[in-house]
Amino acid sequence: MIVSKFGGTSVGTFEAMQHSASIVAENTDRKLIVISATSGTTNDLVALESPTLGSTEREEILMRIEERHLSIISECENQEELRKTFLGQMSELREHLDQTGREKRWKDRLYSFGELMSTRIFVQVLKQYGIEAEWLDARDVMKTDSTFGNAAPDIKQIAKKAKKFIKPDKTYLTQGFIGSDIFGNTTTLGRGGSDYSAALFAEGVNADVLEIWTDVAGVYTTDPRIVPDAKPISEITFDEAAELSVFGGKVLHPATLKPAIRGNVKVRVASSKDPSQEGTLIVNTSKESPVIRAISLRKDQTLLTVHSLDMLHQHGFLAKLFTVLAKHKISVDLVTTSEVSVSLTLDTANKASNKVELTDEVLNELRGFCEVEVEKDLSLVALIGNRMESTSGISGPLFSLLEGYNIRLVCHGASPNNVCFLVKEGTGEEIVKLVHKKFIG
Ligand code: ADP
Ligand code: ASP
Ligand code: MG
Repeated sequence: MIVSKFGGTSVGTFEAMQHSASIVAENTDRKLIVISATSGTTNDLVALESPTLGSTEREEILMRIEERHLSIISECENQEELRKTFLGQMSELREHLDQTGREKRWKDRLYSFGELMSTRIFVQVLKQYGIEAEWLDARDVMKTDSTFGNAAPDIKQIAKKAKKFIKPDKTYLTQGFIGSDIFGNTTTLGRGGSDYSAALFAEGVNADVLEIWTDVAGVYTTDPRIVPDAKPISEITFDEAAELSVFGGKVLHPATLKPAIRGNVKVRVASSKDPSQEGTLIVNTSKESPVIRAISLRKDQTLLTVHSLDMLHQHGFLAKLFTVLAKHKISVDLVTTSEVSVSLTLDTANKASNKVELTDEVLNELRGFCEVEVEKDLSLVALIGNRMESTSGISGPLFSLLEGYNIRLVCHGASPNNVCFLVKEGTGEEIVKLVHKKFIG
């Protein structure tokens, strides 16, 4: 069995949907199809959530969503029924926006409209390609906790529900990104979460292969939008691919590979526009194991630096610092320390996922026992590869290449799979270009 996921651009227009449907039609093992919202729709829904949104702006966004979907519907067969279903969803969306007394779960329900709309249309396009797929409500299977905006999946429940709702002799179309908690509230898995959903479905149904169909022909040596002559990597290990996605390679949601590794599912990333290109196979061990495989960029990083003379030859300071951060559910990415100070990075990119930010409350609590400094507008550049902690000759050329730039923090040695450093946001892309040219060519 193959689980095939198509991202936003792969279902963003009628033409894109046609490409995707013809891929599904090529192989009858593609029995569970997971899709995202049409490209741009989740961003629109996120924009609708703003409490200060004016009515003109709100109408503009709603019209944009409406036009995007109606234009696809206008090219489908069975238009009348599709229009009716879609316009019904639009009025539900309006009602939802009119709700007062918004609770945390309100946002997730809002975001879920995108995937619920796209799947209703794509099921018809599949039909036009001879595929009778059953529309499956992902919320029946994708069981999660109640962390709205960034829900954690309940793997046992997902496997149980998958058995109940997904039969091996049928083909299903379902939504990525959305799930539900034990109370039946709609939840979401964080922005870009459809990849993760697809992997969880693949694990839940014991699939052999997970296919991620996107707008580029696989995992590249760096984001091809930054470096147009970056090349697709034909085979990459789970470890390398996981590092790449964690460090900003948007092609896969960072959590995608965990369920695939657990479920021993092979993963392939390929382009729905050009399926004849080989794409990338993600495997346990790869034939080649280069020291530097890829370069990634993660924007919107915050650097928190704390100083305290009490740290000098004392114990317990780090424990105290991390206790405060843990209490406020602040997730720390990188850490460097000296005798009297600690610097750590926080990811503030995923604003839609309700991540707890460095509020005044947190900062004041820290100021109770140390001096605190916060720097924003930073980007993290990472070199991803193998044996990097034990290979000589990386730092020298790297840092002479970056001589003219201000490097705020460096992490080298903790992981065999990456070397990374923090730079000013405005210089991130320039540095990725330079580093890619020097180390990958
Ligand atoms: P989808 O909607 O299909 O999920 P995304 O936009 O989330 O697509 O992810 C695909 C995009 O990821 C590509 O268009 C590319 O710009 C970006 N990207 C970033 N890093 C990489 C990389 N190393 N390889 C391929 N694509 C990358
Ligand atoms: N539609 C969701 C988003 O834009 C999930 C996804 O595309 O993976 O974040
Ligand atoms: Mg994506």
